[in-house]
Amino acid sequence: MSDEKIPSFNTLAIHAGAQPDPATGARATPIYQTTSYVFDDVDHAASLFALQAFGNIYTRIMNPTQGVLEERVAALDGGTAALAVASGHAAQQLVFHTLLEPGDKFIAGRQLYGGSINQFNHAFKKFDWEVVWADTTKPETFETALDDKVKAIFVESLANPGGIVVDIEAISKIAKKAGIPLIVDNTMATPYLWRPKESGADIIVYSLTKFLGGQGNSIGGMIVDCGTFDWMASGKYPTLSEACESYNGMKLAETFGNFAFAIACRVLGLRDLGPCISPFNAFLILNGIETLPLRMQRHCDNALAVAEWLEKQDQVSWVSYAGLTGDPCHELAKKYMPKGAGAVFTFGLKGGFEAGVKLVSNVKLFSHLANIGDTRSLIIHPASTTHSQLTPEQRTAAGAGDDVVRLSIGIEDASDIIADLEQAMAQAG
Ligand SMILES: *Cc1c(COP(=O)(O)O)cnc(C)c1O
Repeated sequence: MSDEKIPSFNTLAIHAGAQPDPATGARATPIYQTTSYVFDDVDHAASLFALQAFGNIYTRIMNPTQGVLEERVAALDGGTAALAVASGHAAQQLVFHTLLEPGDKFIAGRQLYGGSINQFNHAFKKFDWEVVWADTTKPETFETALDDKVKAIFVESLANPGGIVVDIEAISKIAKKAGIPLIVDNTMATPYLWRPKESGADIIVYSLTKFLGGQGNSIGGMIVDCGTFDWMASGKYPTLSEACESYNGMKLAETFGNFAFAIACRVLGLRDLGPCISPFNAFLILNGIETLPLRMQRHCDNALAVAEWLEKQDQVSWVSYAGLTGDPCHELAKKYMPKGAGAVFTFGLKGGFEAGVKLVSNVKLFSHLANIGDTRSLIIHPASTTHSQLTPEQRTAAGAGDDVVRLSIGIEDASDIIADLEQAMAQAG
């Protein structure tokens, strides 16, 4: 193997983790639609349960279709191992369940997917985990938020509500100095545009629901273990470094070394909390990933064309897209994402709330809905939908002021996307 060339990204997106099915020769990865797997004999079963041998037991914990998906994403990110789960939120839940004890804290950049803000502020409180918010655009705010209860830092690479490129190297330096892992949600960038391990991430999480699956048909999540953090040396993470009661006193980090984090998320978090991905969703997402490089490039090229067009329109007061020259994040985008600045961004309408409502009511090609990362172009006016429960002041603070429209640009022809915006904006006045 050693003198073989390591395949490059496009090739890995199609082949990593997959081989013709040994039983049937099937070339596409089969959907292993089974709950459980027959043991060779009693000794085989015992060694599987004791983690002395790798193998299938029960689909809540592992499944061969899921396994191919995990190997593929780990390869694309240069990680040591990965774990696929039911959703992006389940991935975040399992990551923190593995890292934190009751009473622990973590720092998160406040520019995040809205669902993550809810999960961290409310659901995590019941586990007695406390989120401390920092400003993603000011890395030094992560340093000032540190104290000895803080066990991790969480940021998005390309951050919501769109267009913000985060200086991961600067934040990674702060995490390393504090001796805690950096978790990066790379959903909006995908490994095609940005491989956060190369910028200093220790753990990467995804909502596979978005660009990785890419066709708006299945929910899924992924945890990638970069293999960069020394859990035994740290001693701050007992789930990884101390004797595990449910595995005969095994210390997971000692036994599994640089992929212990992914193992712990699977054999403790997924085993006991249970948010497994269905084999069918794993199959659909795996097929989506085969075309990830082609789709992402088209998404980015179209997004830039639409953003440049919007900048020239009289009804538009501002466009926030890091791909535009002059955008505050443009330099960071050139450094971290030279192939393109993603497909999700926001812009402002001079006509405010009324104009936003009229625009989303009059689009024909765009779909008015609350998702991103579909082949189809998507539009939402946050003030009248996702953020409608907030006061105008709270909306503005959240980057969802009355004039804000968010787009997730699809892979249709850019001229048709622009024509649809043009006709809808003419009606919006
Ligand atoms: C959608 C999304 C999530 C949550 O993922 P689900 O698959 O919907 O649970 C997390 N982070 C980001 C950036 C997202 O866009």
